[in-house]
Amino acid sequence: MNGNTGAVPFLDLVDINADLQTDLEVAWKAVLQHGRFVGGPEVERFETQFAAYCESRSCVGVANGTDAIELILTALGIGGGDEVIVPANTFVATAEAVRAAGARPVFVDVRPDTLLIDPAAAAAAVNRRTAAIIGVHLFGQMVAVPALSSLADRCGLAFIEDAAQAHGARYSGHAAGSVGRAAAFSFYPGKNLGALGDGGAVVTSDVELADRVRRLANHGRAAHDRHRHELPGRNSRLDSIQAAALSLKLPRLDSDNARRRELMRRYRESLPVSFEPVAVDPAAEHVHHLAVVRTLRREQAGAALSAAGVGWGVHYPVPCHLQPAFAGCGERLPVAEEAATQILSLPISPTLDDGDVVRVCDALRGVWP
Ligand SMILES: *Cc1c(COP(=O)(O)O)cnc(C)c1O
Repeated sequence: MNGNTGAVPFLDLVDINADLQTDLEVAWKAVLQHGRFVGGPEVERFETQFAAYCESRSCVGVANGTDAIELILTALGIGGGDEVIVPANTFVATAEAVRAAGARPVFVDVRPDTLLIDPAAAAAAVNRRTAAIIGVHLFGQMVAVPALSSLADRCGLAFIEDAAQAHGARYSGHAAGSVGRAAAFSFYPGKNLGALGDGGAVVTSDVELADRVRRLANHGRAAHDRHRHELPGRNSRLDSIQAAALSLKLPRLDSDNARRRELMRRYRESLPVSFEPVAVDPAAEHVHHLAVVRTLRREQAGAALSAAGVGWGVHYPVPCHLQPAFAGCGERLPVAEEAATQILSLPISPTLDDGDVVRVCDALRGVWP
């Protein structure tokens, strides 16, 4: 959309929300008038809509995606003394949430093709302290669901989905948010379904688990008695204004994701061969939260993109087990470590036009055709 300047933003959040302005103003006015800023009717409406979208029975709106993971773990009784298996290649929030719940993250390596958690590595990390496996649907692609589900079943572990980058993704037809014991979503503004501030949700078909999450996230309150605190809870709630914005944006999620797929198809057609998109599992319907390619010339590529006015990123340059905050939580994990030096994220916002993809590919062709 920035054809005149030739610049291609990595993500333009003003552009993404521009055509919703009038609808948002109407929705906000309604909230201003009823005054139930937290836990208003907008929250309930969005929870119903998003549970249905994820083909699950329950959705609980929470304050952010990190809290959603922590609340799932706590609601499952996972905490001190427990280990939770987490892929080394993820946003650090996955591991932070495990720590916040009192458990220990154990990082495992990823598959060299998809860069998603390697089920064999996860199986090798299971011991008697292991309580759960978090499958992170990173970049918009769901993990190898059958292998992880059967590992979890076989070993009596909870299979939890971190779906913060995968709203609308599917695996063998099954929606993200419907394949694990519970799933955590983030509505951080840059996600495929983004609010206008922080937000998150826990999605599950286990109604009792959803009820525990809801109480934990609302000061441990009993459902029908606000002065009875049944659990040592906390405050992590989705507010009405964010829920109203999310209900306005949910109907466009599928077409936005389709646009992301089309942009990725064009990248595959036009990228120079030295930039190889991360593989897609044939069973996965990818929603391309990020367009990640591998290259041996990342430094030159980044410089060429910047010079051409193209936004880019690296997700993530340092695997979690090498972060100072998580020292000692994983051994050498060669696949994740090598990938971290080669991955490059290209712009793939649904507001980009076909010419933007051409501009990005042209800039890269200058580096190494
Ligand atoms: C964004 C993200 C989170 C955290 O979500 P917040 O809403 O920012 O707390 C967790 N996991 C992954 C993979 C993410 O991308």
